[in-house]
Amino acid sequence: MARYTGPVCRLCRREGEKLFLKGARCLGPKCAFERRSYPPGQHGKDSSFRRGRGSDYSLQLREKQKARRIYGVLERQFRRYFRDALRRPGLTGANLLSILESRLDNVVFRMGWADSRNHARQLVQHGHLAVNGVTTDIPSFLVRPGDMITVRPGSQERRYFKELRAYMEDRPAAPEWLSVNTGAMQVEVLRVPERRDIDLPLNEQLIVEYYSR
Ligand code: SF4
Repeated sequence: MARYTGPVCRLCRREGEKLFLKGARCLGPKCAFERRSYPPGQHGKDSSFRRGRGSDYSLQLREKQKARRIYGVLERQFRRYFRDALRRPGLTGANLLSILESRLDNVVFRMGWADSRNHARQLVQHGHLAVNGVTTDIPSFLVRPGDMITVRPGSQERRYFKELRAYMEDRPAAPEWLSVNTGAMQVEVLRVPERRDIDLPLNEQLIVEYYSR
């Protein structure tokens, strides 16, 4: 599946806030948004988010772009997720976030096995993860309740995962919808993630309005 390959920090600067796309770098003094907190481009310093509130359309567009960029999803797939969310019972916006949150790369990130979703995506693509015992290298794979995600036995011997296991104890607790066994490098999906489980500053209603125009 295709992905965005351009400059990452540019995305934060475009959205006018830190999206934490680069792991540890985002927390340090090298964060590009800390140094240049205005939109990218020649006229960045004069651009809209510095002039105040934009139109309803621009607010909806920016919220949609922000969600896409946080989860690392391109437009076509994001639109597919939205159509899927529409078909599910309940609130479309919450359904959409639940689908995004169920991506395998996001689960790996949420577990603290990677320090950004990009990094998690790479771990999945390199075949280090298995779902229900089957090696799965598709970052967009959607996990379901009952699924068991493990680091493959061969990969557990690698230095990265050995070191990871050693300091996993100090990591923040796993989300409530996941149950983790750090010793075995294993995660069980307990239930579908709900809106209250997703701690992102997103207004999903604006995204629904964007696609409902
Ligand atoms: Fe965004 Fe992280 Fe880059 Fe800062 S370092 S601009 S938070 S991706």
